Amino acid sequence: MFDIETQTFNPELQFAGFVAARLAALEHRGYNDLDLDRREHRIAAGRVRGRAGLNQQRTADYQTEKRPVAKMRIWHAMFSVLFMSEYGMTKTISRLTLAVAGLALAACSTSDDSNEVSSHTDGTQIDLIMTGEAIVTMDPIGTIIQDGAVAIDDGIIIALGSREEITEQYSAIRTLGGEDRVVLPGLVNGHSHAAMTLLRGVADDLALMDWLNNYIFPAEVEFVDANFVRIGTELACWEMIRGGTTTFVDMYYYGDIVANVVDRCGMRAMVSATVIDQRSPDAESAVDSIRKGKEFIQRWKGKNSRITPIFGPHANYTLNAKQLQATREAAIELGVPISIHVSESPFELQYSKDTFGMTSIEMYESIGFFDGPTIAAHVVWPTPAEIRILAERQVGVIHNPTSNMKIASGISPVTAMLDAGVHVGIGTDGAASNNDLDLWEEMRLAALLQKVEQMNPEVMPAITVLRMATSGGATAIGMGDQIGSLEVGKRADLIQVAFDDVHHIPTFDVISHLLYVTDEQDVATVVVDGKILMLDRKILTLDTEKITMEARELAAKIQASLAERNR
Ligand SMILES: [Zn+2]
Repeated sequence: MFDIETQTFNPELQFAGFVAARLAALEHRGYNDLDLDRREHRIAAGRVRGRAGLNQQRTADYQTEKRPVAKMRIWHAMFSVLFMSEYGMTKTISRLTLAVAGLALAACSTSDDSNEVSSHTDGTQIDLIMTGEAIVTMDPIGTIIQDGAVAIDDGIIIALGSREEITEQYSAIRTLGGEDRVVLPGLVNGHSHAAMTLLRGVADDLALMDWLNNYIFPAEVEFVDANFVRIGTELACWEMIRGGTTTFVDMYYYGDIVANVVDRCGMRAMVSATVIDQRSPDAESAVDSIRKGKEFIQRWKGKNSRITPIFGPHANYTLNAKQLQATREAAIELGVPISIHVSESPFELQYSKDTFGMTSIEMYESIGFFDGPTIAAHVVWPTPAEIRILAERQVGVIHNPTSNMKIASGISPVTAMLDAGVHVGIGTDGAASNNDLDLWEEMRLAALLQKVEQMNPEVMPAITVLRMATSGGATAIGMGDQIGSLEVGKRADLIQVAFDDVHHIPTFDVISHLLYVTDEQDVATVVVDGKILMLDRKILTLDTEKITMEARELAAKIQASLAERNR
């Protein structure tokens, strides 16, 4: 019926689209059973939001709407208004509405001659095509497609191939050019405490327990509230998106606030309800935090496909065996994974031996803690027997080299765990012990640390570490079937890295560069679930100016209060 083509934004189309959406909304309210499918409703709703200027992403979506759909929508809506006038709508209102719709249609039609058409093929119409000089798929056989493209529709990767093949087969609402760019899966940050960006640099150069007990825990009780968590998480999401991280596993307080920020900024996350047996910013005890955690998980489970609510028991030195078991039972009851700090420091090793008569992982195994999916952060001090337990029980391990080095927790036996078949991912930990959320730096340090520790440059080659931050990391957190590699059917979480900076010249081996050269400023474009979160280094889903202002204001208060306390 309509010649489907795409075109770039023009004001007439914006107006037409707006009218169409308003009419569609009217129509939807009155005639729910009309033949509008779910996708059509989504597009119409998007137009209304775009007009309201709620955020740039939505506006961007709106601006690239399909003109024929807008036209069809107006015709459809005009007929509906005619019907509605039969059912009590005043004649004046319906005439007015029809007149406006007519104007909108005219605006739409006059732009038919416009030459703002960005692409025109006879192929299937889809949402997005991302192209690149190399598509590093991170699939099981490590396919790299030279001069390639990824076709994305409805948040899913529907095809990969050479740029020529894909652009011939599909016509996209939006095509992201790939000159001097490398496309790869979005990075997976397997362990973070996002809102701790606001405590970045507040206490450095201290041992873990001194740092936790004398600085971090007291500072958190004093300063951390819902507002702190919102601003801190927004700051973290901004930093992570900027650096090409698309998924993170978070452990902090006020899970609802964290989940709301993730919802708005478009990232993918596992958000923990933290369980700890001490007064924390959002609970009084282990029992209280488990109860509140259950409620949080019930609120968020199945609500947003990008957000997985989980339990985050802190560690076996802040919870006793019964409390750890109770957390696991609650997690099994609700069908969610657990993220926890495991075998992080010599302190924990000794504490576990003294308290439980066993090292940490043996102790967790003895109480049935690994009976459900577990993401174990750090794992610096596992014994060979414990590594076998981790492999058998399919515990996902998250390596945090910067934090382990900075707090001098030790060097995790990553290569031994990988050799034993343990799924190992990579994480930044919180910005208070890192002090940033840069996974490129984390990858580089992970490689270098193992090499120098074993005095063997052949261990932890670039591809192994890149896998830990993509497909391997996704598997470690239990999401390997959905994300972590660019394969047909997986969620469209992918990034474009610009290779035009001097430090990428020349490029002999893309994988080598991604590991040993690339840094977060090279990331140009970030897409999660098919939605563009950053385009040509501009963040589209967060108000970075507002975040900067709020973070600085809050930091000034924290600083003043700390100065007062230390006087
Ligand atoms: Zn941590």
